[in-house]
Amino acid sequence: MSERQIIRDIARYSDHDAPAHHWSLVIDGETVSELWVDMETGEILQVETPREHQRRGYASALYRRAASEMAIYHAPEAHRTPEGDRFARSVGGESLPCLHGCCDDSPDFDDEE
Ligand SMILES: [Zn+2]
Repeated sequence: MSERQIIRDIARYSDHDAPAHHWSLVIDGETVSELWVDMETGEILQVETPREHQRRGYASALYRRAASEMAIYHAPEAHRTPEGDRFARSVGGESLPCLHGCCDDSPDFDDEE
């Protein structure tokens, strides 16, 4: 039997980032997936699951827990990393519009690098 727990705290993704809501899935003392959410907008800032722990639904479990505790949103499509985009498509749920004025409303961003 492995012991599995989800821990919620407040943490920075990196030294350059503001404090954020942070959920960690810990199995037998090892952190196997982490999720950071902006404290003001509810935007998902980062999701990280080490490669050896991927494809087990860990990040989805964190998403469901976080979404049950507060309103959380995926980043606007144009702002997502490829990993973030895959994650958003796999777990579903709502996304934020662009709040930074850098995107027009058209969904066609194909020409941008
Ligand atoms: Zn934008």
